[in-house]
Order: sequence, then structure tokens, then C-alpha cells
Amino acid sequence: MKYYSLNNLDIKTSFKEAAITGIAQDKGLYFPESIPQLDADFIANIENYSNEEIAYRAIAPFVGDEIPEDKLRRIVAETLSFPFPIVPVEEDVYALELFHGPTMAFKDVGARFMSRCLNYFTQGEDKKITILVATSGDTGGAVASGFLGVENINVVILYPSGKVSDVQEKQLTTLGQNIKALEVSGTFDDCQDMVKKAFLDEELKNVSLTSANSINIARWLPQMFYYFFAYKDLKAKGKPVVVSVPSGNFGNICAGLMAKKIGLPIAHFVASTNANDTVPRFMGSQEYTPKATVETLSNAMDVSNPSNFVRILELFGKEFGALDGELTAYPFTDAETIAALQKVYTENEYLCDPHGAVGYLGLKKYMDANPGYTGVFLETAHPVKFADSITQNLDIEIAIPAQIESVLHGKKVAQQISSYDELKDFILKK
Ligand SMILES: *Cc1c(COP(=O)(O)O)cnc(C)c1O
Repeated sequence: MKYYSLNNLDIKTSFKEAAITGIAQDKGLYFPESIPQLDADFIANIENYSNEEIAYRAIAPFVGDEIPEDKLRRIVAETLSFPFPIVPVEEDVYALELFHGPTMAFKDVGARFMSRCLNYFTQGEDKKITILVATSGDTGGAVASGFLGVENINVVILYPSGKVSDVQEKQLTTLGQNIKALEVSGTFDDCQDMVKKAFLDEELKNVSLTSANSINIARWLPQMFYYFFAYKDLKAKGKPVVVSVPSGNFGNICAGLMAKKIGLPIAHFVASTNANDTVPRFMGSQEYTPKATVETLSNAMDVSNPSNFVRILELFGKEFGALDGELTAYPFTDAETIAALQKVYTENEYLCDPHGAVGYLGLKKYMDANPGYTGVFLETAHPVKFADSITQNLDIEIAIPAQIESVLHGKKVAQQISSYDELKDFILKK
């Protein structure tokens, strides 16, 4: 499979190069040159296949012959080494829990898949890759855990001092080995700006720098798996399936839409956002006008200009009518999010995290207006990761799972930086 840059159809590259470089030289996001079609018999009998087999079949055409079958099967198996339960919440409404991985956020899957692909591509080559990521919380932890101990790869994570939760900070700063944390005096946007500057810096051209956010195809595409697993489990209910995705950078939902394009019969998608509502406004007005980012309780979705939205437009041939038929988008306030957390907890004894609660709200809103579906919302993080914002608003205690307990005892190691020059020195010194 070849990938082209969304800024210039003539710039084409392999899966390997796209995974290693992250983004095209012209700063365009990579997009597959054709949309594979899965075998109809396989889809019709999906309940008879294991998650690993399903995931392998979904991703294989996107990788092509660049990773041999046995290696790719192994990468998929290692990526999916934890459960993805579908949990009933209320009549016709289910949560797909994506938080049973090592850092308890759904980004584990993409990070694990990407790290193993890069490891395969650098084996036997005298090549070292430095992954540079800015994080507002979850991305950094998932990338740190996903790449820990992977040969030939160094990870440098920038995070805004005092602006990530305690658990998140520990997940970034306690692992050691090939994972280095830089604590930036500034905001997430400052971290992001430094990372962007580094990618453009001519003096860093000899360091093989890449990103590990959802613009990288090797992190973006494996997110298709979730939708296959949800469909497989809910097919027997006999109704069309609608999926609501709590969305920030729109990588996850874009992977869901891709899963549908390659043959998965999901009936409809709901993009649920917090107050950062650029896409819901676009779906109403067809005008794409990002505003300043606002801080919310579901802070992993505090994105006002979602990078992956261009990919969604491309998937639908830039035809608004086609997109509008398959995607509905709704924004929700923090007050609505808290009320939903409360309601689902007291009425259904199910504790959402703030992101999942936004997903629940979008699902309910769509199903209230459009009866006859089986609905599923993606629970993208374990509630313990947002324990502060939950316990401030609800009278509940959240038990700390083992994955989190173990990192809480680790020793924080981070280097403080406050300028781009300090970042650059750090990269060049290594
Ligand atoms: C990253 C993240 C999201 C948003 O996913 P996108 O792919 O950026 O839309 C939602 N919930 C949680 C917990 C996240 O970490």
C-alpha cells in the first residue's frame, strides 16, 4: 500500500516511510492511496473469529508486504494483549471499555502497534529514531509505555508543568530506560510549539525525529480494531449499530469511519465533543472556523483544530452530503458531563470517566431522535485517571487498579526546561 500526502497527491511513500517520518515533507497527513475491501464472508461470520484474527485481517492490506505475515501477526497479538469488554449500561446501550491496557487509556493500542512496527523497521539497520511528543496527559503515558525498552528508539516527552494529573505525571516520568521526560514551564500549547519547531529545525535534520500522535498512520489505523470488536459483540442483538466516539483530535473516529469503508457494517457514527465544538459547528454550517481552545473536564479532548478532520473529509471525497449521512456531531458542556456521570452512576451503577460520559451523552441524544438502534459509546479512559474531577463533583470513591498503583510508587525523573534552545540541546546531546 502506498500513502499520499493530503497536501500533494504526487508525494507518495510506503507504509514504512510513512510510519517512520510521521508526516510528509510538505507537512501533509498521509492517506492510503486506495481503500481495501474485506472479504464479505469474513464480515458475515465475524463472530467466529478471534480478535487477533479480525485485527490482522483489518490491518494487513494497509501494511501490504512491508512486514511479513508472521511478524505482523505477532505485532497484532502483542498489541492486543488485554481485554476489550462490551459492558451493558442500560437498555440497548453498551460501553466498549478501551482502558484495560497498561496506561488505562485507549491510546495504548495505537502506541503499542506503532512501537512494534518501528522496531521491526529499524532492526538490522544502523538507525536510531527519536520520538518527540508533546502531551496534555494521556498521549505521553501511552507512548512512554508502548515504546519502553524498544531497541533503536528514544522517546522524549514534553509536558506542561503542573498541568497534568499526578497519575499522568508518574506515568511519564517514572519509567526510565529509553524514555525521557521534559517538564516545561508553560502550557500544552508551548510544548506543542517547541515540538513543531524541532521538526522544522534544519540543525536537527540528522537526528531521525518523528512524532507519535494520531497523525502517524501506524498509530491511527490500528484504532479501527475497536469498531470490529464492538460490532462482533453486538451483532447478535439484531439491530443496526450506532457508535458514539468522544472526540478531540478525531483520530479515533476517523479510524472507525475507515473501518466502515473497508466493509464493517456500522450503521452510524456520532462524534461527541466537549465545548471545543469546531466539528459540530462545521456539520451545521459547513464552515470550519476553529476558536481558541477552552479547558474542560474531558481535557484529552481539548482540541479546537482537530488534525484528523482533513482525513475524514478525504474519506468522503470532500462531499459534505456523503459525510452528513454517516456522521452526526454534538457538543456538550461540563455541567452536562457531570450530570451524565451522576445519572449513569446512580441509575445504572456504571461509572464513566468524563470522556466516556461525553460519549454517552452523544449516543443518547442520537438514539432519542433515531430509535431502533443498538448503541455503543467508547469508554476511552479508566475513571481513576480523572479521579480528581470526578470526586470533586460526585460523592464516590474510586478504587485504584494495580496498573496505576504500581506507577504511583515510582520515582519521578524529569528535566525542567523553559525554552526551545534547551530542548534542542537536550536532543543534540543524546
Ligand atoms: C485522546 C483521547 C480522546 C480523543 O481521541 P481523538 O482520537 O483525539 O479524538 C478521548 N478520550 C481520551 C481519554 C483520550 O485520551
